Formats: sequence, structure tokens, C-alpha cells
Amino acid sequence: MNPLILDGKTLSKDIERQLALRTQALLQHAPGRTPILATILVGSDPASATYVKMKGNACRRIGMDSRSIELPEHTTTAELTAIINELNTDPNVHGILLQHPVPHHIDERQCFDAIALEKDVDGVTCLGFGRMAMGSDAYGSATPAGIMALLKHYEIPLRGKHAVVLGRSPILGKPMSAMLLNEDCTVTICHSRTSNLQEHIRMADILVAAVGKPAFVQKEWIREDSIIVDAGYHPGGIGDVHPDAYGISSAYTPVPGGVGPMTISTLMSQTVSAAEKALGIIQ
Ligand code: NAP
Repeated sequence: MNPLILDGKTLSKDIERQLALRTQALLQHAPGRTPILATILVGSDPASATYVKMKGNACRRIGMDSRSIELPEHTTTAELTAIINELNTDPNVHGILLQHPVPHHIDERQCFDAIALEKDVDGVTCLGFGRMAMGSDAYGSATPAGIMALLKHYEIPLRGKHAVVLGRSPILGKPMSAMLLNEDCTVTICHSRTSNLQEHIRMADILVAAVGKPAFVQKEWIREDSIIVDAGYHPGGIGDVHPDAYGISSAYTPVPGGVGPMTISTLMSQTVSAAEKALGIIQ
């Protein structure tokens, strides 16, 4: 049987249509209070600039606004945290996105943690991570939260399944593992020091590849009929899983058009929620 394609592109368009309606309703409730996502880009990495631009475009598609803050490469940790603190207290800003990665001399963790919890719509703070992991109210890290939304939409059973997460980064592998655990998966987390990596991958009912290396996971490593979530994105539309592997899965996320669009629509969704909360429309 042909594998099911977990089509993040189509689902994201549906989510955006819903978000446009919620934004219109919000504006009727509070005229002039357009939800605003502040995006911060430090330095001139072209890929990061493209991601920030895509997020700004997504805001406009649903009737939100974005405030783009572009800072020079030599920005210090203190300067960046001062800007984040200003945005934290600005009532017109509902969400803050600090584009990862920042230049190496900046303490990224300190800057992420400077973001106020209620504006942490990209789910990058330690506080937000801890609350999410404990099952309390917080915005999830956008990419893993988008993956969970995609799995839920396609009614992929999670309870009791063995999920193998390849990667343990703070924005992807770690929160992904916590989210899958919260849905009663049995979770194995693999990383660069894991022994017998291929044996772990072969055990997966659901594999989430977030390793950051093009076409890294080979077809031979994967059990037939497993579910492949490929979070990777590399030039030329290559993911972290070799495309030959998709054919033996029972379901997979295509690259492009799988996880990427879900990341953006999740960020938008969490920003609209933050605006609705700030304006007292929802709790
Ligand atoms: P990252 O910070 O570079 O983390 C990569 C992880 O993979 C690390 O935990 C690392 O282990 C592990 N790893 C590296 N080499 C390995 C190896 N040979 N064997 C086993 N594990 C290995 O990357 P990231 O930010 O999490 O991103 C992962 C992927 O997702 C990238 O392809 C990125 O482009 C993609 N991504 C996509 C989106 C989207 O919206 N679609 C968003 C974010 C990221 P250690 O911890 O031991 O170093």
C-alpha cells in the first residue's frame, strides 16, 4: 500500500484560514488592536533572514502585523536582552520571536529566557518548556508543536507507541520528546553520542528525524511500515531522512511541505492566542 502523506502544506492553509477568521473577530472586539508578532533577526545569515521574512508574510496573510527588528552582527547579549525587555512591556506586541541561531558571542539561552512567558509564542523559554513538559499551560516550541498538530490531524495513534527522536536540541528534539511522552508514547531520544543508533531507529513505530544532516537516515535503518516525521530542511528540498526511506513507511512528512509549513502556522496560531489572551477574549 502507498504510504500516507502527512501533508503539512494543506493543513497549514486550513489553519491560516481559521486564524484569519479569529483575527477578524478579535478586531471586531478590539478595533485597531491588530495582533503583532515582533521578529528579531541578529546578523545577516541569509537562511535566517528568509525564515523571518516567511513568518512576516504569514502574519500578513492572516491579517496580523509583524514588527521586524534587524540588529547588526556585533549586537551584545546585554543589548539584545534590553530590546527584548522593551518588547515585553509594549502592550501592542503580543508575541516575540528571536530567530535561532544568534551569532556565537551572544548568550542565546539568556536572551530566550528574557522573553516574557505570555509572549513566548515560539516556545523557547526554560519556563515555558518546563510548564509544557509538566502538562501546564504554555506555548510549545513551534516545530514540535506543529508536528503534534499534524499527527493529531491525521489521527496517528500515539498511546503506547515507541517513538524514537533523533536529536536533542532545545528547540526541537527535547520538547518533541516531552510532547510525545505526554501523549503516552514510549520515547527513546538519540543524539551524537548514542551507541548503536541504527538499532534504536529500527525499533521505532514513529521516527522523528531532527539531526540536521541531509539524507542522514538510511532506508535500511528503518522498519517497514513505521511512521517517518522528517523535520530536516536542507538546500534542494532534502530532509534529514533519505527520500528512498519514505516508500517503505506507512506515513511520512514530505520535504518540503510537511513540517516546515506546520512550524509557521503553529507560530501564527500561538500569536493569535496570545493576542486573544492579552485582550481578554480567552483565558
Ligand atoms: P541541532 O541543534 O543541530 O541539533 C541536532 C541534533 O542532532 C543534536 O542533538 C545532535 O546531537 C544530533 N546529532 C548530530 N549528529 C548526529 C549523529 N551523527 N548521530 C546522532 N545524532 C546526531 O539541530 P536542530 O535545530 O534541532 O534542527 C534539526 C533539523 O531540523 C535540521 O535539519 C533543521 O534544519 C531542521 N529544522 C526545521 C525546522 C522547520 O521549521 N522545518 C525548524 C527547526 C529546525 P548532540 O546533542 O549530541 O550534539
